[in-house]
Amino acid sequence: MSAACALAETGLRVQLVERRSYLGGRASSYLHSGVGEVIDNCQHVLFGCCTNLIGFYRRIGVADRIHWTCEMTMIEPGGRRSQLGSSWLPAPFHGLPKLLSAHAFTLADKLALGRAFSTLMRPIPADSTESLGAWLKRHKQTEGALKRFWRLVIASALNADVDSIALPYAAKVIRELFMNSAGAGSMGMSTVPLSELYAGAQAFLEQRGSKVLFNTNVESAAWDEENAQWTLTTRSVTLASDLLVLALPFEGMQRMLPGLPAASGVGELTRQIEEHEHWPICSVHLWFDREITSLDHAVLLDREIHWMYNKSRLQPWRRGNYLELVVSASRPFAELSREQAIAQTVRELIEFFPTIAVAKLEKAALVKEMRATFGVPPGIDAARPTSVSPWPNCYLAGDWTATGWPSTMESAARSGHLAAEAICASIGEPRTILDANLKPRGLMRLVG
Ligand SMILES: Cc1cc2nc3c(=O)[nH]c(=O)nc-3n(C[C@H](O)[C@H](O)[C@H](O)COP(=O)(O)OP(=O)(O)OC[C@H]3O[C@@H](n4cnc5c(N)ncnc54)[C@H](O)[C@@H]3O)c2cc1C
Repeated sequence: MSAACALAETGLRVQLVERRSYLGGRASSYLHSGVGEVIDNCQHVLFGCCTNLIGFYRRIGVADRIHWTCEMTMIEPGGRRSQLGSSWLPAPFHGLPKLLSAHAFTLADKLALGRAFSTLMRPIPADSTESLGAWLKRHKQTEGALKRFWRLVIASALNADVDSIALPYAAKVIRELFMNSAGAGSMGMSTVPLSELYAGAQAFLEQRGSKVLFNTNVESAAWDEENAQWTLTTRSVTLASDLLVLALPFEGMQRMLPGLPAASGVGELTRQIEEHEHWPICSVHLWFDREITSLDHAVLLDREIHWMYNKSRLQPWRRGNYLELVVSASRPFAELSREQAIAQTVRELIEFFPTIAVAKLEKAALVKEMRATFGVPPGIDAARPTSVSPWPNCYLAGDWTATGWPSTMESAARSGHLAAEAICASIGEPRTILDANLKPRGLMRLVG
């Protein structure tokens, strides 16, 4: 979507081909027949540092549908709350006053976190082969800091175990979310269902003479050297195009490979794809007969459920009292049946919100995404191809390509902008499409 819209803006006529009947890919919403509600595939959050995603939202006119907050409430079982968030102090110290007063961490935890943060102020070389887990051990993080900060906040932002996360990716998340500036770390959530948000892309394309083809699964693509043209085969139509962007998830790209022409470089791309691994995310959607909490969202400590989003507050047009609970990077939770997952979620939630013990659960849904994200273990950058593909006039995009970002909507938007830049350069009309990173503020400007 980000490639298509950026290219349509330059005057190219674009056909966006989507196998589903709605836009958004993994970041989409749909009518869940079991509960009769439109739900997101899972709550998706973005941050102020996601400049390309925000740039894409601005381009398609939906940036005002994002609700922003700088506050993060952590709740312990029993209900005691701690607040993380920013203050008037210059970066990187803006979060310090709230961290220091947080009950969730002991003094030893806070000192350990302070030491770790100050070491991570400087970027970690991208070729570092250390895992976050090994680094945390080397930097003597306390059990509390490990459990309540690193494993919960950082590992779930990257959706993997700490031992399976390359240190440069974790360091990037720490710097962007907690150190570079209060704005970079502010969190955004859509006030409308995700597919409604991304429907802005369809309107944008159609206003520029481009179009979206829904329910159109691309099965193969052939290159005609003589006419310099691609032909795409789908079950219903054959499509022709001078230029092609393949913006598939890595397993989709793998499925597509046998239907693409032979070319040098295909072997290397195949090898790169094989290096990637999926991590699951589960979301449990609960509707109660009464309001459970006046918080918009919270981080839930020491239990299997990690994040609470109060959808009735974030999307006030909704009826009922709707909470969404997210469990990141947990393969055991993903193994549970629907009944087990919902029962465990409600059991755990009572420890944070006692009202639930007397409230009536009206309806519930479980969404398991076994292929939610790709992991970023040490060495993964060698397996992330650039937008240049093995084929002529064909470019690669998708969150797993070489953007330097973990598996996020920002990575997807960046990859689209990079592919669009490569296309503009290839047709002799080079231009900058990639949105610049936010500049660090305060004392972080002085750090290299
Ligand atoms: C449960 C869950 C929670 C997440 N939480 C967050 C979050 O909080 N914040 C965040 O930033 N990211 C989050 N992510 C990750 C984010 O959703 C992805 O990084 C992002 O959507 C990837 O976009 P993409 O365009 O690269 O791939 P996709 O979203 O997978 O899009 C690929 C598109 O190609 C289509 N397609 C595939 N094959 C074909 C074919 N042969 N022909 C035609 N069309 C085809 C698919 O239908 C899809 O629409 C989450 C993901 C999941 C699943």
